[in-house]
Amino acid sequence: MSTTASLPPTPGAAGDRPRLTFTARRRGKPPRHLADLSREDRAQVLRERALPGYRADQLSRHYFTHLTRDGAAMSDLPARDRGQLVDELLPELLTEVHTLQADAGATRKTLWSLFDGAKVESVLMRYSERATLCVSSQAGCGMACPFCATGQQGLTRNLSTAEIVEQVRMAAAACRDGLLTDGATRLTNVVFMGMGEPLANYRAVVDAVRRMVEPSPAGFGLSARNVTVSTVGLVPAIDKLAREGLPVTLAVSLHAPDDGLRDDLIPINSRWKVGELLDAAHRYFEATGRRVSIEYALIRDINDHGWRAQLLADELLARGRGWVHVNPIPLNPTPGSRWTASDPAVEETFVRTLRRAGIPTTVRDTRGSDIDGACGQLAAEALAATAPKVKEPTR
Ligand code: SAH
Repeated sequence: MSTTASLPPTPGAAGDRPRLTFTARRRGKPPRHLADLSREDRAQVLRERALPGYRADQLSRHYFTHLTRDGAAMSDLPARDRGQLVDELLPELLTEVHTLQADAGATRKTLWSLFDGAKVESVLMRYSERATLCVSSQAGCGMACPFCATGQQGLTRNLSTAEIVEQVRMAAAACRDGLLTDGATRLTNVVFMGMGEPLANYRAVVDAVRRMVEPSPAGFGLSARNVTVSTVGLVPAIDKLAREGLPVTLAVSLHAPDDGLRDDLIPINSRWKVGELLDAAHRYFEATGRRVSIEYALIRDINDHGWRAQLLADELLARGRGWVHVNPIPLNPTPGSRWTASDPAVEETFVRTLRRAGIPTTVRDTRGSDIDGACGQLAAEALAATAPKVKEPTR
């Protein structure tokens, strides 16, 4: 008699099986990728697979410099090893679902599907002097800011380092291949202003930043000052970032200078108040020498009052001069939102008040708003794309 025979049958065991598989897949980690690993660890992985460690640098050059994961293009690697090398260290992580263009082809927004079906977006924007990629650090977001499309979704999961880095490689290749207007160019800037709160996925984000700024063959060799990490204000993580020795630009999504309003706009403000956040931002400036950006979405009749502009200026000046600049950005209304952008005259007064107080202030443009692609509003489209649609083709 087998021991299991005496046990009562597991209810629905057969029916549960596919569900368990599905759950396991969804909870599983993305496959390990070269971009998850330091240069030394890549060599180690290859040695463990009985491949010469120096192949790791060759493979890394293909990835970070030639921007490819196509074994057929790697003519300096022995043909017999290419398949294994690619399988071991360059698995496919992002599948393009679709790309939308705006601003006469100077803006491209791509929706990506990850290995488990989670969706994220990135937006590539060409300017006269630079090309900037807005990357996602999480699928969804747990911060629940009521004006933000991603905030309405909740958090699906953190992205791995390589899932972030792959967004950069794809964008760098798009720039090189002339997919933006006005021909080939170089990707120069990366901003963590896509989906997610980067400092809530701290380790993967910092490692992704390292891959961005390390020179070839370890990384892409971007300038750290051209990488911006944008946060709702996770104070301990800001202090930790200041100690990483990575002089990236810090952007703080403030949106209100007073706790009364900020508690409503940015729920995490109940944990770290405006004063604590601005102190941390100022410490970041002192530790890194990098001027901090204050992001301020101007929402009509909510946070755009003259007295709030003055209070913002006072709060910033109380901590010193020359350490900060303000980026007001017209609110990009999310579908169904009762909020809208400030009146242009009100925006002008807000900006003038800050400038008169001596705070450098630049209104951020809203690229791609016609494709829901302004940074910080990437999710509505992604959600719509993941929800089953009856009338539209699935692609
Ligand atoms: N979680 C991070 C980064 C992602 S959002 C953060 O909050 O900083 C990038 C920026 O877009 C943030 O400043 C965010 O507040 C802003 N944003 C979000 N929704 C917006 C909207 N509907 N209109 C304008 N800016 C928005």
